[in-house]
Amino acid sequence: MASRASDSPIVTVPDARVLDVERIKADFPILSERINDKRLVYLDNAATSQKPREVINALLEYYRKMNANIHRGLHTLAERATSAYEHTRTHTADFIGGVKPEEIVFTRGTTESINLVAYTWGEQNIGEDDEILVSEMEHHANFVPWFQLAQRKGATIRKLPITVCGHLDLSDIDNLINEKTKLVAVSHMSNVFGTVNPVKDLAQRAHAAGALILTDGAQAAPHMPIDVTDLDVDFYAFSSHKMLGPTGVGVLYAREELYRDMPPFNYGGEMISQVGFDKVTFADLPYKFEGGTPNIADVIAFDAALSYLEKLGMENVHHHETEITRYALDRLSEVKGLEIQGPQDTSERGSAVSFTDKDIHPHDISTYLDYNGIAIRAGHHCAQPLMKFLGKVATARASFYIYNDRADVDALVEALIEMRRYFGV
Ligand code: PLP
Repeated sequence: MASRASDSPIVTVPDARVLDVERIKADFPILSERINDKRLVYLDNAATSQKPREVINALLEYYRKMNANIHRGLHTLAERATSAYEHTRTHTADFIGGVKPEEIVFTRGTTESINLVAYTWGEQNIGEDDEILVSEMEHHANFVPWFQLAQRKGATIRKLPITVCGHLDLSDIDNLINEKTKLVAVSHMSNVFGTVNPVKDLAQRAHAAGALILTDGAQAAPHMPIDVTDLDVDFYAFSSHKMLGPTGVGVLYAREELYRDMPPFNYGGEMISQVGFDKVTFADLPYKFEGGTPNIADVIAFDAALSYLEKLGMENVHHHETEITRYALDRLSEVKGLEIQGPQDTSERGSAVSFTDKDIHPHDISTYLDYNGIAIRAGHHCAQPLMKFLGKVATARASFYIYNDRADVDALVEALIEMRRYFGV
């Protein structure tokens, strides 16, 4: 703010969008761990995020004060557990744009959410000669279920190609989405390039051709505000463990009318209405898709993760990550021998940054960084078609979240420079 006359004090207005990273770090007990006698710099958030004290406490609280099976017991503990579990469902529905709670089904993760759609909607609606359009940058979770379905049904998987800059190549999209297309399967944000894909535009194109769209939101839901109604997607899948919540909880959103027509996924207890030797009828939504005892404790603790993110504000989370990613892209470009993948423009991408070193294997990069307390991911990132496109077997990937700051990026860059000296390249 510009200085004014001496009688009017200079007021500095803190930027409300800036996260207080020091305070956030203090909420995550694991971040004070020492790794190889160094401060832990955790940059493997695209694989899984760390958990704040609120989430850890919510798990303990569940086992201490309300452990019971849900939806069936009539005693107080069962009512407590049921109400907390259903509260998370309503909270999740609000978190992705205020959809109906019955449009939220809890699964074990994004992988199971997508398999649920493949085995139910897919089995019912995909036939011989139908086409499923899958992007070349998909995680195997949004590739293999469609590939297997196509094999079972005699359908065709078509490739939505990518460009060397890490974008979807939409130049032939009018041909790729056609009257044979039944489903477009695309990630909202790539786990390798970090690219944020034009899901809304693809949804419009899919619908115009009479097809549906399934969006893999595993890398997007943790990092930006999500409104599935505005995106106009038919299915949206994501995982709790990548957004501060426990492992073993996935979310599947689908429009209610789709769910109504889809057959159940797992058959057994909890998902039925009436069972007899002559006839079985199924429970109403969403229970028809949640056969058996669900992951009660972790779903309940996921609520605390959503609250933590909401307290920060998803716009602010996104703003913080854009800043840190811009800084990381700038600083990484100073390291000799590095090739950085994905868009350079932070308005087109999120905070997963993949790179290779022309002289050092990604696995060696990861091991070297680990000696320095820095956790990154190295490998094919469950995206082998993308790796084939790049002509690589693996990349290294640093991925940032709410508790990362410029000092973490500096530690990464300094260790990479030191690594090249160590390897004599
Ligand atoms: N989709 C994307 C884009 C991912 O990054 C991941 C996990 O890394 C998945 C799907 C699979 O998620 P989960 O292992 O939680 O099922």
